[in-house]
Amino acid sequence: MNCANCKKLVCLVGGRKRPAECPMENYPEVYEKAKIIYQDPTIKKMALNAGIVEARGYIEWPRIKDTIEFAKLMDYKKIGLAFCIGLLKEAKKAQEIFESYGFEVYSILCKTGAFTKTEVGELPQEYQMKSKTGYTIGFISCNPVGQALLLNEFKTDFNVIIGLCVGHDSLFIKYSEAPVTVLIAKDRRLAHNPAAALYTYYYDKYFHRDQQSQ
Ligand code: SF4
Repeated sequence: MNCANCKKLVCLVGGRKRPAECPMENYPEVYEKAKIIYQDPTIKKMALNAGIVEARGYIEWPRIKDTIEFAKLMDYKKIGLAFCIGLLKEAKKAQEIFESYGFEVYSILCKTGAFTKTEVGELPQEYQMKSKTGYTIGFISCNPVGQALLLNEFKTDFNVIIGLCVGHDSLFIKYSEAPVTVLIAKDRRLAHNPAAALYTYYYDKYFHRDQQSQ
């Protein structure tokens, strides 16, 4: 599969001549399976409401408004916010906004449970972060599994990620029973705008140098 390099985009614009490696050509049974899944009432409702939000807010709404409108259309009442300590202010603000729209909000910090990193597993010395004075920082482990299990306990309808680290977000999504969306994808370097690395010439050079050094 190589859709990112497809020059025909037959799936979008129509036509008969698909690229030889097009999955529509080679995996028709997968599309049939997907069609059946969309017949599940909840899945159908999610898919249709996502389309409604897209059409109503197109280029106008910020993502948090998309999230609110989607949650309203889905009749969700309880929203979980799984957030990172580095985005405490943003989480507080997001909670206020969701509450102002009438949602019941349950926010849970990544450090919940106060597990030490050594409790989770052995972290090699070179990855233990130290402050300038030698104090070990980041001693308390993030606990994305705990965040998900707690929100499951509270039976949230919809969980929103605010800046969980790469990998921690994956674990949270894996263990969350409610559907999950990402409000903020953490990128400490780029003000939480990971796409910026794809837009700028400087990062083309950076990736080139980085590959050479590996
Ligand atoms: S699904 Fe087929 S037509 Fe569509 S982008 Fe992928 S390869 Fe191209």
